[in-house]
Amino acid sequence: MDTAHCIFCRLSADPNFKTLFRDEDVVAFADLNPQAPVHFLVVPRRHVETIAELGDDHLLGLIFATAHSVAREQGIAESGYRLVFNQGSNGGQTVYHVHLHVLGGRQMTWPPG
Ligand code: 5GP
Ligand code: ZN
Repeated sequence: MDTAHCIFCRLSADPNFKTLFRDEDVVAFADLNPQAPVHFLVVPRRHVETIAELGDDHLLGLIFATAHSVAREQGIAESGYRLVFNQGSNGGQTVYHVHLHVLGGRQMTWPPG
């Protein structure tokens, strides 16, 4: 998948796309198909297909820090939230541009489906 055909590359490069947070490294935006009252994604602007490929890149820390600060803004920091990276086919990954799911606003269950 090249960046021209990647939905998250296109969205993060679009200045009119409604985001919850945006800087030169990452963007956060609401998931199109929310699985919880609050469900947003944190995405590096650089096209990297999987979290495995990202390794120990410094973007990982920025992704987590953004998740926590947007969670605070969304009012779910105190009640708690779930952070999920789906990796590969069995992991349930459908978009091959790294993204961290942040889900909150309800009690999460375990084990996940
Ligand atoms: P995955 O299954 O790869 O872990 O998650 C992909 C997520 O991206 C899904 O939760 C899906 O709803 C979301 N998604 C896919 N396309 C779009 C889109 O065009 N806009 C937004 N906001 N979310 C999207
Ligand atoms: Zn991409």
